[in-house]
Amino acid sequence: MKATTLALALLPVSVVPSLRGLAAQDPPAIRDAQQVLSRLVETYGVSGTEGPVRDQVKALLPTWAKAETDTAGNLWVRVGQGNPVVVFVAHLDEIGFRVTGIRDDGSLELETRGGFYPSLFEAQPALVHADKGDVPGVFIPRDSAFTRHTPPSLRVDVGTTSKEATMARGVSPGNTITMPKQYVRLAGTRATGRSFDDRVGSAAQLLALRRLNRTVLQHQVIFIWSVREEIGLDGAAVAARALGTTPRRVHAIDTFVSADSPLELPNFGVAPIGRGAVARALDNSSVTPRAHVDSLVRVARARGVALQVGTTTAATTARSSRPTASWMCRSAGRCATPIPPRRSSISKTWSAWRT
Ligand SMILES: [Zn+2]
Repeated sequence: MKATTLALALLPVSVVPSLRGLAAQDPPAIRDAQQVLSRLVETYGVSGTEGPVRDQVKALLPTWAKAETDTAGNLWVRVGQGNPVVVFVAHLDEIGFRVTGIRDDGSLELETRGGFYPSLFEAQPALVHADKGDVPGVFIPRDSAFTRHTPPSLRVDVGTTSKEATMARGVSPGNTITMPKQYVRLAGTRATGRSFDDRVGSAAQLLALRRLNRTVLQHQVIFIWSVREEIGLDGAAVAARALGTTPRRVHAIDTFVSADSPLELPNFGVAPIGRGAVARALDNSSVTPRAHVDSLVRVARARGVALQVGTTTAATTARSSRPTASWMCRSAGRCATPIPPRRSSISKTWSAWRT
């Protein structure tokens, strides 16, 4: 997962109850994006418990689409026939926690399910997704401010003082935990909320299917919404095994880091929000074949689609990547600066597909 603002670079949208008047003036494309993304964002699905998100995706598919769920839980929609087979994959899951135990004082012990900085959760509201409904709580803050940097293991307090009382609320080991979240429209076509990674990718695939003109499609396109990406690309690995070497290309549709904020170093990410989606050409684990990025750029230019070519790579690899980076400057018409390493879900996805 990355900060919420990251996803805004990919799919600007509009919304929010208090701004319904403004939303009513949105063009249809923005209205569709908002409707699809808001429903996905406001559905919870920690890695391993993606069922509710998968159900939302199914409900939002066009009526002609035939969806299948594989043994891992990935959702597949196949369109068209023949080669080359092209695959798009976005992941359904979001980061969170799982209850591993209940202490005698009633608090919950946790393990991460695709974590982020633990300190960001301290003293924040929590939501336990229990069997009979969601149970609110709070992530317990550290006892002492002298514990710097890495806090002790996170626990959640659901307001009880005994193990029995916690269990009486319906909470049990294995339940997942997130923070409460809401899709909120900001100014213009921007919005904020948790789990934009990768609900924006899931929404983008749905919107693509809704607009797809099947009558002119001359080859097969497969859309996959994958599970358990945040904890090791489990779903993508299962899909990759099922597909074998059939696909010509696999496009992982996920988020990209943007430095478009007053507090970020300007060289951190070179994909300003509002200038279009990002084709990730290079990061700290993979280099997208040059011809693939070039063809994406050509298609985007021909169709008038705003597209940026981006990199996220380790500083230590900057030297070896220089020829690639300078080629990207030419392809994109602007220069990309190698930036510090960041965890990259899209690169992991590519790696899985290559195995
Ligand atoms: Zn992701």
